[in-house]
Amino acid sequence: MKLEVRIERTSAPKVHPEESELGFGRHFTDHMLLVDFHDGRGWSDARVVPYGPLSLDPAAAVLHYGQAMFEGAKAICGDDGVIRLFRLERHCQRMAAGAPRLCMPAPDPEMLAHAITELVKIETAWVPRTRNTALYIRPTLIATEPFLGVRPANQYLLYVILSPVGSYYGGDSLKPVRIWVETQQTRAAKGGLGSVKAGANYASSLQAAMRARKEGYDQVLWLDGAKHEFLEEVGTMNLFLVLGDELVTPSLGDTVLSGVTRDSILTLARARGMTVTERPVSFGEIVEAHASGRLKEVFGSGTAAVVSPVSELVTAERRMVVGEGVGPIAQSFYDELTAIQRGSRRDEYGWMTAI
Ligand SMILES: *Cc1c(COP(=O)(O)O)cnc(C)c1O
Repeated sequence: MKLEVRIERTSAPKVHPEESELGFGRHFTDHMLLVDFHDGRGWSDARVVPYGPLSLDPAAAVLHYGQAMFEGAKAICGDDGVIRLFRLERHCQRMAAGAPRLCMPAPDPEMLAHAITELVKIETAWVPRTRNTALYIRPTLIATEPFLGVRPANQYLLYVILSPVGSYYGGDSLKPVRIWVETQQTRAAKGGLGSVKAGANYASSLQAAMRARKEGYDQVLWLDGAKHEFLEEVGTMNLFLVLGDELVTPSLGDTVLSGVTRDSILTLARARGMTVTERPVSFGEIVEAHASGRLKEVFGSGTAAVVSPVSELVTAERRMVVGEGVGPIAQSFYDELTAIQRGSRRDEYGWMTAI
């Protein structure tokens, strides 16, 4: 399925920010993509228009009952000057897979990937060229029907905005983060929205993250909602542990988001012949592994940072220092994945799409 995308170009292009001062999600390009959905009519009127405020009825369902989800993908300029999208289809498939949980219409992944590619092609001048920068792609799906009754809305807006983003670490080298192990609040509960990129998950995570930051930590480690016993995610990233020679990550379920970066790291690790295990990991096991010296590395994975090494895990009772600075395995996955993204390493798995 392909929607015809109508294009209306801006008459007032913006001044591009300096690549050294991009930050994350602070600047937006000249255009955005919008697609409407109406029950009975399906998707219609795909259009690229000048970037600007949306007009929403104050009764729009998203503003009251939170039917909203998003995606986060990247276009990267390679060392060869070619712009490539990283696993865009998989991001679009994840959006389509998650929408039914929120009773929202699933966009056809191919249609969405095609429309996003058209948008990025129009904005190629906005893809930053410096190493470790990218054009961040933010597809968003919201309920727009003006109606205050509680039921799934019958009108939606799918829109995509683009943001040139700087190096996550503010330079070339990875910086380890210090993590507060959260034992009071939970990010996601069994049977809830945790496996969907729903805005609501982020709303429920903000307070714990803010408290952790106040205490001098960078993010929180999320434990399961029932007993606060099993490890789930770190901040808004998937979690990896190196236990002895084994690469371990919590198994997917309805409380863990199925990260594209997670999947990519698992693929690279298996290709290296590493022992890779997806299984439940209890905090008690980590405490023991730390005491016995088996806990070699901890790191997070996600589109924005790619890999984020963890140097400390702290609870009210204990402070565990993990490794020394940036672990070699975290560093090697970061190097390998970003080299594939820049086109300077062979793309064996067909992850990159040149535009
Ligand atoms: C987006 C996200 C991730 C990482 O997914 P990627 O596809 O690798 O970017 C992990 N956990 C949560 C909660 C997320 O929202």
